[in-house]
Amino acid sequence: GAREDCPLDKDELGSKTWAFLHTMAAYYPDKPSKEQKADMNNFFHTFSKFYPCNICAEDLQKQLKQTPPETGSQDKLSQWLCRVHNGVNKKLGKPEFDCKLVNQRWKDGWMDGSCD
Ligand code: FAD
Repeated sequence: GAREDCPLDKDELGSKTWAFLHTMAAYYPDKPSKEQKADMNNFFHTFSKFYPCNICAEDLQKQLKQTPPETGSQDKLSQWLCRVHNGVNKKLGKPEFDCKLVNQRWKDGWMDGSCD
């Protein structure tokens, strides 16, 4: 079968998961209700218990204790997640992502129109 029909390795799972998480944050409300804030906080805590990469999940649980999800608005949540992802990038020796660009990367597309 084709490679894309095989079980995911850690890196494939990682990049697909980041795409989901950043896109979810991009579409979180600008003015969330109390319930939405609590639900998003619970989502990340529960997610960190089941993420199917043990070392990743353990690290994420530590991160969540140090810097809990900032659920006050779309902007706050996306910036928080960008910092969490940068923490992992740093650990893995990957370049840091400029968090000012996070909505262009995951929501609006680049200013130069290359995603239109
Ligand atoms: P990825 O890091 O997967 O990034 C995908 C795309 O996201 C990039 O191409 C870039 O366009 C964009 N991006 C990069 N940084 C940011 C940012 N800060 N904010 C917004 N967008 C950004 N792997 C391990 O080996 N050890 C771990 O402990 C580990 N922990 C993980 C924890 C979580 C919660 C997740 C989801 C993944 C984890 N991974 C871990 C996997 C790792 O983060 C990468 O996904 C994997 O190494 C593949 O990297 P990549 O180069 O494809 O880019």
